[in-house]
Amino acid sequence: MRDKSSMKITVGHLYPELLNLYGDRGNIACLMQRCLWRGIRAETIELNTEEDIDFTKLDIVLLGGGSDREQMLVCRRLKKIQEKFRDYVENNGVVIAVCGGYQLLGKYYQTDEGLIEGLNLLDIYTEQGEGRLIGNIILDSELSDIPVVGFENHGGRTFLNEGCRPFGKVLYGAGNDGKSGYEGVIYKNVIGTYLHGPLLPKNSRICDYLLERALERKYGSVQLEKLDDWLEISANKYIFKRFMKRRRIAV
Ligand code: GLN
Repeated sequence: MRDKSSMKITVGHLYPELLNLYGDRGNIACLMQRCLWRGIRAETIELNTEEDIDFTKLDIVLLGGGSDREQMLVCRRLKKIQEKFRDYVENNGVVIAVCGGYQLLGKYYQTDEGLIEGLNLLDIYTEQGEGRLIGNIILDSELSDIPVVGFENHGGRTFLNEGCRPFGKVLYGAGNDGKSGYEGVIYKNVIGTYLHGPLLPKNSRICDYLLERALERKYGSVQLEKLDDWLEISANKYIFKRFMKRRRIAV
């Protein structure tokens, strides 16, 4: 097997100056730390809206959440990187996009203030609904053998078309549109989700899933060393029990 110290993961944080709500940056700390604990080297490149992005240098791309106003600003820049980003996604590049970032992967986000054009990388679209969907959320996801937990706060309602499957089934909370009973999207190695938290420290299984996909793509098949996730799993169980007792299901 390949020597771990020769492996390296590079995370590209897109537009941190505009897209970084509710500690989304914590997802990067988690990706990096879980590499370092395993002796795998890791670095993060912050890419701001003025920069040209070389996707061939990136193994994981993170797009965080943002307000509608910030999304409007980002949307203008996105067109410039659209084709390179599409190639990255179609070539199984790993992406984790949260809330505003998730919405921007789709065709558009229709707000009361106007239309925000998306990257059109996934066949999904978002429309602003009445009121915001705010609160804790718990999912059953095919990517994790334990529930996925987080916090959502969005005015947009996201709808998936063919070719995209949801990230999870809502056990508690609102999810994509507060009605379908589903949350987020999975397409190739892309996960889009409304879960802040930040998502990855709260859900180490999802973090490892992303790392595994990125390492596999770069180095071929890999088996990630198991870490002692006692603390993470205990926190997860606590949240699950706390909210599932007063269950509120979207459908
Ligand atoms: N502005 C978007 C909405 O309200 C996304 C918000 C967010 O990223 N939390 O739907």
